[in-house]
Amino acid sequence: MPTKSRAAILVEPNSPLVVDEVTFPDPGPGQVLVKLFASGICHSQLHQIHRTPETAHSGTHAQYPTLLGHEATGVVAATGPDVEHVREGDHVITTWVDRALEEGAPPRARTEAQWNGMSVNVGGATWTEHTLISERMVVPMSKDVATDVTSIIGCAVLTGSGVIMNTLDVGIADSVAVFGAGGVGLCALAAAQVAGAYPIIAVDLSDEKLEFAQRFGATHTVNASDGDPVEAIRILTDGGVEFAIDAIGAPSTQEQILHAARPGVVGLRKGGTACLVGAVQTQGRIDVEELRISQRTYTGTRGSASRPDRDFPIYLRWFQEGKLDLNGMVTKRYTLDQINDAVDDLTAGRITGRSIIVYD
Ligand SMILES: [Zn+2]
Repeated sequence: MPTKSRAAILVEPNSPLVVDEVTFPDPGPGQVLVKLFASGICHSQLHQIHRTPETAHSGTHAQYPTLLGHEATGVVAATGPDVEHVREGDHVITTWVDRALEEGAPPRARTEAQWNGMSVNVGGATWTEHTLISERMVVPMSKDVATDVTSIIGCAVLTGSGVIMNTLDVGIADSVAVFGAGGVGLCALAAAQVAGAYPIIAVDLSDEKLEFAQRFGATHTVNASDGDPVEAIRILTDGGVEFAIDAIGAPSTQEQILHAARPGVVGLRKGGTACLVGAVQTQGRIDVEELRISQRTYTGTRGSASRPDRDFPIYLRWFQEGKLDLNGMVTKRYTLDQINDAVDDLTAGRITGRSIIVYD
């Protein structure tokens, strides 16, 4: 029987979201219907809402109308044929990266809902009371674990902590600088602490966010509005960090991470690594001759080489052991009806940490 659900619908870019009832079909082969507990509000969705011809090339190629959101927790309400790793009643984390992708796997089947006689793109959306999602994007979690703040594991933690553990393989005593102390940046700082990195430098434009970052593992902070953050990092680290991470994706930070990584020494060692994590709306300019001479590595990541089936249980363990303070990181909660306020607050930079939607 089809499921009616209230959802935030983006009818077209650059317009307020419409909260209305959509209808999901029964789950097909390999699909799961999930009743959501909570969803994170990820910065990357702003790019999909505030779309310009200049930015239309980047990120997800959305079709409209569309539902949004891509990190959540919920309870499995129904499963389609061929779904074996979760069953009705299981608590799950939903995400946007395949939980255990195998070489040569077919593309995930498209998911759609109906609204006003129109087909609405779903694609694992989480700003909706229910979602219809591929079983490949659903990871089971224990019923003992809180279901509100863990909703940000599916993107913020996956991306931020994943870049430290998977993409960069940060190790003990490695120096790390993270540009951007939002949800992804804070998760990177926390993971750097777990990995034993030192120093762990948070860079942001807001003193409030930098002070907040110290609760999540930052051992030093640099306010980039006080002067050149690269110079400040070089002074703190005697020449540059082993790993410089851009969790923002602005032209200035794309360039600054290159220079914040320590240069190599000819005949002795290669340079440090700069890693671009934040989605790019406007391209910066990377000086490739500087890159060559300094023997640094400039890399990027989307999804941080994550394997959700393998990684999420570890992140849940960190959360339960107090190493990943998701309760502290989630600073604001909204109802689905407040979704446009939530988007406005995030757009205006009024969110410290991460905000979430909590469903009834
Ligand atoms: Zn995200």
